[in-house]
Amino acid sequence: MKIAKVEPYVFKVPLVKPFRTFLAEVKAKDHLIVKIETEDGKIGLGEIGPLPEFAGESGATCYTVTKELLAPAVLGQDPFNIERILARMDAAVKANHLAKSAMDFALHDLLGQILGIPVYKLLGGRYRERVPLCWAMGMKSPPEMAEEAEEAVAQGYRCLKAKIGLDPKMDIERLKAIRERVGDKIGIRADANQAYSPDTAIMVIKKIESMGLDLQYVEQPVPYWDIDGMAKVAKAVDTPILADESIFSMYDAVTIIKRGAADIINLKVGKVGGLNVSRKIASFAEAAGIPCMVGSMLEIWIGTAAGAHFAVAMKNVTYECELIGPPMYTFDVVKEGYRYVQGFLEVPERPGFGMELDEEKLRKALTQT
Ligand code: MG
Repeated sequence: MKIAKVEPYVFKVPLVKPFRTFLAEVKAKDHLIVKIETEDGKIGLGEIGPLPEFAGESGATCYTVTKELLAPAVLGQDPFNIERILARMDAAVKANHLAKSAMDFALHDLLGQILGIPVYKLLGGRYRERVPLCWAMGMKSPPEMAEEAEEAVAQGYRCLKAKIGLDPKMDIERLKAIRERVGDKIGIRADANQAYSPDTAIMVIKKIESMGLDLQYVEQPVPYWDIDGMAKVAKAVDTPILADESIFSMYDAVTIIKRGAADIINLKVGKVGGLNVSRKIASFAEAAGIPCMVGSMLEIWIGTAAGAHFAVAMKNVTYECELIGPPMYTFDVVKEGYRYVQGFLEVPERPGFGMELDEEKLRKALTQT
């Protein structure tokens, strides 16, 4: 069986409400879908949500890289030879991990379709029944964030993430307002998206600790390239530090672990090159005693499904995951997504990711973009 066709599609989807982080205010976002087809008409789908300020890849670069460099590396190959295909893609173009992730997702979906099994069974089977979630809040005023936190808890979420980083004093106020509103039993984490210097990060986190705000962890407090700075922060504070933007490959993950720069890894499967690479990272992180959390780059349903299958299969994904992209958007291009139930994401038994493209919606999305 050989791969006969690779087709990328790129389009924009507006968010219901803008999402503010230190890096950007996101109002609408590019999504890349990759459709792979075998000679006998079996189809696999992958999707990623490029965010150039965060990842250095846009919808346009992912489309071009897929069309001109990745597709020739994949065409004619047996889809079961995943390691070989990934090596061919790495040989064809350096980095571009988001574009490669979309292709890896499509390959996994295709294998699931051919075998008639859900993707999580290709990853070792179910370790947990469903994915516990954390609701992520963009940066707003402290009262607005407290309000959103209360709404999320009412919907069943037991974990909340607050974007911080524009102003240290206000960041502390944000976290205080959220903690006061939701009480002690809800997990709270903060994501600075690289906003602080190491010394500012240490000052802010120590202040948060002295106020007893009890954070699960602080995510990427310093710039992605400052590994020594992040190690300094991790050593100086009691609160665990999580690495996100510092990790775009399995080599980055090894460096972070070796240098003691983080206690937890944000393993976004659409950021590091896909499910195959993510599985390797989860494994060596487990051996090093570093737990993982599956975050998102606000993918729509196909990309979110990839994260969900990974999160139910991996023992070492021990933190509530942030697979909450789909409800943030005004539309999707699949016929049916998964179900959110009381702060959990359910992963159905359908073959592959179990997603079917709604050709009409896709056509409309492509013409609007
Ligand atoms: Mg992050």
